[in-house]
Amino acid sequence: MTTRKLILPIFLLLTILLICCSPQLAPKLPEVTEAPAPLPMENPDAPQSPEPDAAENARSPLALKITNGHLMNSKNEKIQLKGMSLFWSQWAPEFYTFETVKNLKEEWNINIIRAAMAVEHNGYLENPQREKEKVKQIIEAAIDLDLYVIVDWHDHHAEDHLQEAKQFFAGIATDYGHHPNLIYEIYNEPLDVSWSNVLKPYHEEVISAIRAHDDDNIIVAGTPRWSQRVDLAAEDPIKGENIAYTLHFYAGTHRQELREIAKIAMEKGIALFVTEFGTTNADGDGPVYAEETREWFEFMDQNNLSWCNWSITAKDESSAALLPGTTPSGINRKENISTSGKLVRDELLESSN
Ligand code: MG
Repeated sequence: MTTRKLILPIFLLLTILLICCSPQLAPKLPEVTEAPAPLPMENPDAPQSPEPDAAENARSPLALKITNGHLMNSKNEKIQLKGMSLFWSQWAPEFYTFETVKNLKEEWNINIIRAAMAVEHNGYLENPQREKEKVKQIIEAAIDLDLYVIVDWHDHHAEDHLQEAKQFFAGIATDYGHHPNLIYEIYNEPLDVSWSNVLKPYHEEVISAIRAHDDDNIIVAGTPRWSQRVDLAAEDPIKGENIAYTLHFYAGTHRQELREIAKIAMEKGIALFVTEFGTTNADGDGPVYAEETREWFEFMDQNNLSWCNWSITAKDESSAALLPGTTPSGINRKENISTSGKLVRDELLESSN
C-alpha cells in the first residue's frame, strides 16, 4: 500500500477517535434512570405477598427465638413474656377489641395478649369467618401496640380437627407470619391422649402447614393431660426450630408435683411456655389461691417461663379478672377488677415488661 493510500483510513480513524473522546462532541446517550416505583395497589383487598420473612424478623427488635430451651430476644438475651389471656372467643366476644388490648398494655403492663379462639361449642368449626375475624382484631391490635400475641386453637379434641387447624394456621401464617409479634399455639389442652401416637403427629402436620409460609415464629405445642405432661413431650420432642411446649396450671389444683414434672422436662432441654394459668381451681372457679399463685410466679421467674393469666372476662367466676358488668373501657378502673385480677395485675405492674 502506498503512503497516499494510507492517508484516507488514518484520517477517518483520527476523526472517529476525536468524536468519541470529546465530551462535547460525543453522541448524547439517554441518562440511565431507575425504573419508576410501582404505584400502590388501588384495591386494598388484593392479595399482597408477605415481606421477606427470616431477614425481616432478624432486623426487628421484637424477633424471638428458642435457644437451648430458652426463649430469647433479638439481642440473644433470655426474655420472659407476661400478660393476659382473653376468654373463649365465642362467649366473650366483647373483649376482642383494640380498646381491651390498649388498656391492658397501658394499665396492666402486659407485653403479651392471648386470643383464645374457640373451636367447638359454636366456635370456629361452625363460624370460621366470624371467629377468625375476632382473632385478627387482636393480632392487629398487638402489632399496632408493639405487643406479642398468641393465637390459640382453643380446643380439647384438635386431633379430630386436623384439616381445619392446618387450613386456619396456614392462613394466619400467610397473613401475619412476617410480623415477629405472632406466636402460634396450635392445641390448647389435649385430654389424656398419647403424645407420640396422637399429639406429636398432629403437631408435625400443623407445624409443617405453618412453616410453608413462616419459617421462624415461635410455635407452642400442647401436651397430654390438659397440657401438664410436658415430661412426655421431652422424651420424644418434635424436630424443628423455635418450638416450645405448653404447660398449664391452676394454682388450687396443681402444685409442687406439677413443678417437678416441669423441671424434668426442662432438664431434658425443651422450652416450656405457660400460655394459660389460673389462680383458682382447675375448673376456673373456687377460692383464689394467692400463696400458691405466688409460688408459681417465683418458679416461673426462676426458670424464665413466659405466662398468660386466664382470663380477661367479666363472668361471674373467680378466675375472671373483671367483675360482672365490666366493659373494655372499664378495664382501667380498679373497682372493676376481681380478687384474681388484682393479684395478677400487681405482679404485672411489678415486672419490667
Ligand atoms: Mg416469621
